[in-house]
Amino acid sequence: MSRQRPRISFEYFPPRTVEGKARLLQETTPALNELNPAFFSVTYGAGGTTRDSTLGLVSTIHNDGIDVAPHLSFGGDDENAVGALIDTYVARGIKRMVALRGDMPSGMGGASQLVYANELVAFIRERTGDHFEIEVAAYPEIHPESKSYDSDIQYLKGKLDAGANSAITQYFFNVESYFYFHDQCTAAGISKPIYAGIMPIINFANLARFSRNCGAEIPRWICQRIEGYGDDQDSIRKFGVEVVTQLCQTLLDSGAPGIHFYTMNQVEPTREIYRNLGL
Ligand code: FAD
Repeated sequence: MSRQRPRISFEYFPPRTVEGKARLLQETTPALNELNPAFFSVTYGAGGTTRDSTLGLVSTIHNDGIDVAPHLSFGGDDENAVGALIDTYVARGIKRMVALRGDMPSGMGGASQLVYANELVAFIRERTGDHFEIEVAAYPEIHPESKSYDSDIQYLKGKLDAGANSAITQYFFNVESYFYFHDQCTAAGISKPIYAGIMPIINFANLARFSRNCGAEIPRWICQRIEGYGDDQDSIRKFGVEVVTQLCQTLLDSGAPGIHFYTMNQVEPTREIYRNLGL
């Protein structure tokens, strides 16, 4: 069976230090760009906390001739501020955007009302027409604040109907959650692509903590295996690469349209997984 090369993309967050930014631009990006991704994306800190650093990083990567998408949310900003930022991206020739509701930074919860992603998508479309290729977030294991499984799918449909081109999922390790979710989306009338967000296993303690907050389940057998390795980082790394390669392979073999890697600003293990897939 011949099928198109799956779409591959790589996500970054804006580094906090000058050295981190230099490493990302001078070492990580050239190494990952050799893998010929469709684009890179750069996250937007909760509540707009990385407004300038996201813009700066996106602009520098774009100026190197690489396709790149800023993530964007209203955070605590009003339409004027968000509109001005969108206009800046247009003026700099950015053609992609990942549109999100986002979360409030810890300690600021409830300070103001977050704007849902479907409203941001509509705002971007109203302001810039078809200029941007817009991605939105999807949750195979369902967003932690969601009222129900079905309502989360309906809100995803709302974001796509508002004008988003496709969705990228939260990371997951249970491959069935993606396939079941995809089937339910299709049944709900969603036909736009849903790209699988994949998290390589890098720092397991951090991953476990973050997963509890964002509602991504790490299967017990993976936790048990990693706990059993204790401080043997090499074995954890090898096991992580093997598990995530298998996950990606199953997804691609079963027709997932592509993979968005949460690289954590590292070349490895994303590159190793990518190479294992023989893409
Ligand atoms: P929404 O789609 O707006 O949904 C939020 C919640 O409200 C869901 O429970 C949904 O069911 C419900 N809902 C949706 N629409 C409505 C509506 N119209 N009325 C009532 N309820 C509704 N976070 C960051 O801070 N920065 C990033 O750069 C970032 N990038 C991400 C990239 C991807 C691919 C993914 C999957 C997540 C990312 N996140 C990021 C995390 C994300 O911001 C959080 O998960 C956030 O809590 C939800 O954002 P959303 O765009 O999915 O929200």
